Amino acid sequence: MSTTTDVLIVGGSVAAIRAAETVTRHAPDLGVTIVSDEAHPPYERPPLSKIGLGDDLDLAALTYPSVADLRARGVEFALNTRATALDVAGRRVVTSNGEVEYGAVVITTGCDPIFPEMFRGLPDVFALRQFQDAQALRAAVSDHTKSVAVIGAGFIGGEFAATLVKDGRDVTIVDLAEKPLGRFGDQVAAAYAALHRESGVTLRLGDAVVGVEDSSDGRVLRLAGGDTVPADVILVGIGVRPSTEWLENSGITLNNGVECDAHLRAADRVYAAGDLVRWPNGRFGTSMRVEHWTNAAEQGRVAGTNAANTVSGLPPVECVTVPYFWSDQHGVRIQFSGFLTGAEEIVESKEPGGSLFVYKLGDTVTGVLAFERRAEFVRIRAMLRRETRWDTVQGMLPVGSSLV
Ligand SMILES: Cc1cc2nc3c(=O)[nH]c(=O)nc-3n(C[C@H](O)[C@H](O)[C@H](O)COP(=O)(O)OP(=O)(O)OC[C@H]3O[C@@H](n4cnc5c(N)ncnc54)[C@H](O)[C@@H]3O)c2cc1C
Repeated sequence: MSTTTDVLIVGGSVAAIRAAETVTRHAPDLGVTIVSDEAHPPYERPPLSKIGLGDDLDLAALTYPSVADLRARGVEFALNTRATALDVAGRRVVTSNGEVEYGAVVITTGCDPIFPEMFRGLPDVFALRQFQDAQALRAAVSDHTKSVAVIGAGFIGGEFAATLVKDGRDVTIVDLAEKPLGRFGDQVAAAYAALHRESGVTLRLGDAVVGVEDSSDGRVLRLAGGDTVPADVILVGIGVRPSTEWLENSGITLNNGVECDAHLRAADRVYAAGDLVRWPNGRFGTSMRVEHWTNAAEQGRVAGTNAANTVSGLPPVECVTVPYFWSDQHGVRIQFSGFLTGAEEIVESKEPGGSLFVYKLGDTVTGVLAFERRAEFVRIRAMLRRETRWDTVQGMLPVGSSLV
């Protein structure tokens, strides 16, 4: 690994690859090094929970196509290398393989899954974040005699449950919350629960996992209400937390994430991008942290631009985005765009082809969530780049659409 570089990128996922692509495109003379603790160059994570169990999980196919081009342009990938400390004044990062001095650094170390202590050391209990997690999980469920339980009814748990059901398997999802995806409102929670139930997933909502026990029929999860759920294989999908331990003594502000300004700047010559960033998003006039792929990609580009501009003495650009995610479950594409405070009124437009949920605060539309209805979603998402009035969106909904 080089001991000096113009732009150092720490982390090896989507924010990192987008940052590296941006620097090489806009400032081809700058040296770029990516330091990642993973064994593989950056690859797509979203397919890890979506690829059918009968299909190949092919690392080469998941690897970002630009990796080869970046290597050809001289970008260095220091893999299996963990950053352990950041020295802002000394402009250097300490890693498990030595120190690197930088002109500017982009932090993209993302998030790690939350994994409760009660499961530590137990066989066949998985979190799903990296390629090898997916490999191990899929190997464990390939034994059809084993029961499978998913803890957490969010997107990763929901997607993996959907792949199991598609393969003809029984699966139970347990979630502490009565209403899955409850932050999107009661109507969305009900539609999401119905989608899973109608597709054959058993949902145990509003009940907590309090223990794991062996029984004569195999391993079970013990629930607070007293019931048990068959659980020879367990996927824990209860959320993630920012991977910022290595920054703890760096002096940069950590607040459930890396606190940045509107340019994604965390300190002098230090930028950040992706799941771990908290920044004031000018589109919504508020500070936020977003844990979705598109945000990480967009921020990677902005932080890469600003890191290169800092080294080249150019002014920074602002990061203004409309958060977006998609999820594929039981053949239904679920998409959301916008930013919600929780105080919104929700208007549902139901059609045979799916549902649209439009969120409004007074006359202003702040978000849209769709089950299918892809074309309308795309149009409303595009409108949300600017302040959008309800009557404009309402006028786009199909005539006769049932508004609830
Ligand atoms: C299974 C799965 C499915 C998903 N599906 C969707 C989806 O359908 N739609 C959607 O919008 N989002 C989805 N996401 C979320 C999306 O993948 C994340 O938002 C995105 O990966 C965040 O990218 P990131 O670059 O910020 O961080 P991460 O992807 O978390 O990557 C961080 C990188 O930094 C490395 N790292 C961490 N600490 C260190 C260190 N100290 N030193 C060196 N390297 C370090 C990690 O190993 C990793 O390579 C999914 C995520 C998963 C896991």
